Amino acid sequence: MKNIRNFCIIAHIDHGKSTLADRLLEFTSTVAKRDMQAQLLDNMDLERERGITIKSHAIQMQFPYKGEIYTLNLIDTPGHVDFSYEVSRSIAACEGALLIVDASQGIEAQTISNLYLAIGADLEIIPVLNKIDLPHAMPEEVTDEIVDLIGCKPEDILHASGKTGIGIEAILNAICDRIPAPKGDPQAPLQALIFDSVYNSYRGIEVLFRIKNGTMRKGDKVKFMATGKEYGADEIGILGLNQEPRQEMSAGNVGYLISGIKEAREVKVGDTITHVNRPTPDAIQGFADVKPMVFAGIYPVETTEYEELRSSMEKLQLNDASLVWEPETSVALGFGFRCGFLGMLHMEIVQERLEREFNMTVITTVPSVQFHAIGTKDQMLTINAPSEMPEPNLIKLIEEPFIKAQIITASEYVGPIITLCMEKRGIIKGQSYLTSERVELSFELPLSEIVFDFFDKLKTISRGYASLDYELIGFREADMVKLDVMLNGEKVDALSAIVHRSKSYDWGRRLCEKLRELLPRQMFDIAIQASIGQKIIARETVKALRKNVIAKCYGGDISRKRKLLEKQKEGKKRMRSVGSVEIPQEAFLAVLKID
Ligand code: GDP
Ligand code: MG
Repeated sequence: MKNIRNFCIIAHIDHGKSTLADRLLEFTSTVAKRDMQAQLLDNMDLERERGITIKSHAIQMQFPYKGEIYTLNLIDTPGHVDFSYEVSRSIAACEGALLIVDASQGIEAQTISNLYLAIGADLEIIPVLNKIDLPHAMPEEVTDEIVDLIGCKPEDILHASGKTGIGIEAILNAICDRIPAPKGDPQAPLQALIFDSVYNSYRGIEVLFRIKNGTMRKGDKVKFMATGKEYGADEIGILGLNQEPRQEMSAGNVGYLISGIKEAREVKVGDTITHVNRPTPDAIQGFADVKPMVFAGIYPVETTEYEELRSSMEKLQLNDASLVWEPETSVALGFGFRCGFLGMLHMEIVQERLEREFNMTVITTVPSVQFHAIGTKDQMLTINAPSEMPEPNLIKLIEEPFIKAQIITASEYVGPIITLCMEKRGIIKGQSYLTSERVELSFELPLSEIVFDFFDKLKTISRGYASLDYELIGFREADMVKLDVMLNGEKVDALSAIVHRSKSYDWGRRLCEKLRELLPRQMFDIAIQASIGQKIIARETVKALRKNVIAKCYGGDISRKRKLLEKQKEGKKRMRSVGSVEIPQEAFLAVLKID
C-alpha cells in the first residue's frame, strides 16, 4: 500500500487534462504506441465528437521510481461547470490532484472551483503549467497567478506540454514523491466507496469502487449498506486499459466489481460496500446531494415507449449520478418524466445519450429553474414545472433561485460584462485584479437569467476571453408570472414558462414570433397565442400550406427532398402532435432562442 498513489487531474475545460493523461499512459507503457489515440480516456462517442470529457475515467499505471514499482491510479475529470459533480466524486477516491493550468490562458473560473473542491477534500495539490510549447505561452505571468492562488512556491510548479511530452517524467516523479500513500487497514472490516457505475448489457452492472479499509476477495459475500442488498463478488479487478481481474484487492486500491446486479436502482453512487460476515459499523460518508439547476420534461415520441424510457433512464442514471427524475404527466404530451439537470449542456448530453445508448427518441420540454411559491397560509410549494404553479390568488409570493457568479476576464471587457449582468437583473459584488490585465468579477444573479444563454452571450461580448463559474446561494422574492401558450385555442402545458413580470410582454411577443418560425406549416392556419392568466398578450399565425407549395417543396427541389429522406433515415423525427398541430423538438426549446 505504501507504493499506491491515487490522483486525479483537474483543470478548466480545454487546458489539456485528457491530452496530458495520454502522455502519462504512454510514458508508463500502459498503452502500447500502436494503440494510442488522442484523448484515449474519452471513450464515449459523444466525448470524442465534441472533444470534451463528460465522465470521469479511471485507469491504473505501473511506474518504476527509485528502484521500486509504484501503482498509480489516475482519474481524469471533466472541466465544464455542468459536470462538477463528477469531479467531486472522483476527488473522494484520491489523495492528490494535478492542477493543470494552460500557460497561454492562465487561471480560469473552473481552475478555481475545482481547486477548492480538491482542497476541501484535503488533497495534495501538484500545480502544473501546461502547454509551455505554445509560442504565446506566458509562463512568468501564469506562475504568478498560480502562486497567488494556492500559496505555493514558484519552484513547486512543474512545467509541461501534453503535446510534445516535456515534463511528463517529472510529473510522474512528483506524484510518487509528493502525494501521500493511501491510509487504511487491510485487516480491518471491509469499507469500499462506490464512486461510479456503468450498465453493461452483457455483464450486468459494473460498480467502480475505492477501498478505504479491509480486503475484498473474489467470491466474497458483500453487502451494499444503503440498500442492504447482498451479492457475491463474482469478479473483481483493477481498471487497466481494459478490466483486469484479480483474486483480491485491499485498502487503498481502486477497482471494479461485477456481481450479477440487474436492477439499476440497487446501485447508489456514494454507497459503501462491506462484507456480509464481518460488516463495518460505519458507512463512508457519501456525497453531497446534487442540486439540479434546470428542470425539463422528457417524453417519449411514441407514447407506447414510456416503460422502456423509464428503464433506460434508470440505466443512464447509474452512470450519471447527477441526473434526477420523477414521473410527470402533461395534458399535451401524456406520460413522461420531470428531470433535473445541472445545466443546459447536461440536459443536451442526457437527451443524446438516451438516443445513442438506449435507442430512445425523446422530446425535451421547455426548461425551467425551480421556484418556491409561498401560499396564503405560508405553506411553501416547490415548483419544478410551470404547470405546478398555483393560481395567483392562492399564493402570497414567489421566490426564485439566486446564484453567486465568478467571472474571470480581460480588463477591457469589464464594462460590457457589467452591462450584461445588469440587464440580467444582477448585482455586482466585487471586482479584483489577478494581474494588471485580468480581472475577477463577482455578481449575484437570478439563476433563470443565466442558465440558458448567458454563457454564450458572455463569450460573444468578451471574444471568448471570459470564463464563468457559479453556485446556488438561495431563494429571493421575485415578481414572476406564468406565461401560457395556446395553439388554435388549445393550451399546450408543455410550452408554458415562468418569467419575470417586467419582461413578460416582450417575451410573449418574441416567443410567438419564434414559434411561428419553428412550427411547420400544415394544411390549415395555426393560431399561436401567448397569455398571462386570461389575458392574451401576443398573437401570430402560421399560414396554411397551399397544395402547389407542397408540390414545389417536395417534388421540385431534389436536394431538399434528398435531405428530407436522409433526415428520416436517421431515425424517428423528434416531433409530437398536440391536438391537430405537430410540434417539433425545436419549438419546445424556442424560449432558449429568444433574443
Ligand atoms: P481537456 O478539456 O482539459 O481534457 O483538454 P484536452 O486534453 O482535450 O485538450 C484541449 C486542446 O488543447 C486540444 O486541442 C489539445 O490538442 C490541445 N493541447 C493539449 N495539451 C497541449 C499542449 O501541451 N500544447 C499544445 N500546443 N496544445 C495542447
Ligand atoms: Mg478532457
